[in-house]
Amino acid sequence: MPNSQASTGRATRAVRQKLESLQRAGVTHLARVDTTTKQGATTMSVSKDSPEVEERATALAAVARDVAACSRCAELASTRTQTVFGVGDPHARLAFLGEAPGADEDRQGEPFVGRAGKLLTDMIEKGMKLKRSDLYILNILRCRPPGNRNPAPVEAAACREFLDRQLAIIQPEFLCCLGAVAAQNLLDTTEAIGKLRGRVHDYNGIKVVCTYHPAYLLRNPPAKKQTWEDLQLLMREMGL
Ligand code: URA
Repeated sequence: MPNSQASTGRATRAVRQKLESLQRAGVTHLARVDTTTKQGATTMSVSKDSPEVEERATALAAVARDVAACSRCAELASTRTQTVFGVGDPHARLAFLGEAPGADEDRQGEPFVGRAGKLLTDMIEKGMKLKRSDLYILNILRCRPPGNRNPAPVEAAACREFLDRQLAIIQPEFLCCLGAVAAQNLLDTTEAIGKLRGRVHDYNGIKVVCTYHPAYLLRNPPAKKQTWEDLQLLMREMGL
């Protein structure tokens, strides 16, 4: 093979490996980067004060590798099919925080892909008129608790480092906690979800709105009305 063809092949392989590693970290799309101006100077389409997209994606990939190798919770590490890191845009303004992967998520490696996930997607796309892939979705736990039991406090504490590292990289302005487990763990409170919802909380400078978990809404459809009010509160806060 001529030299130039060989080096093109190597470059293509390197790009493919990089994209696969970003995909494993839950990155679903990269921002378009315009590298030329009229004057021919190099410029980026992403604002200067936030790390460039690939930088965040690479930082997330490093956290995802640590998560995949984690065995802090012996029971979860020995029963999981795979870890479920998080998915979406590394520059998302809004992140949704759930409880823990269920059976579908454990199988597919992505949060909220089962029935509750379908409802969450409808809430985002039909209700809020946003695209799921423009947001970020993650959980308190990155492993499925056997039988879908609630996360033990010690498990939530062990996984907290990963949650905080993900949030520190993504820097969302808004966080929506889905259900009591997400809200109480994040905000370190025992207050009921019915009391936490309907107002704006703060987590390290991130504005937090809490609402009911989509799995609860599937069991109790009348509560969708309150969740819609919470999402409208969130949208007002976001200026949407
Ligand atoms: N429920 C959650 O809380 N998280 C998921 O990822 C799926 C279902």
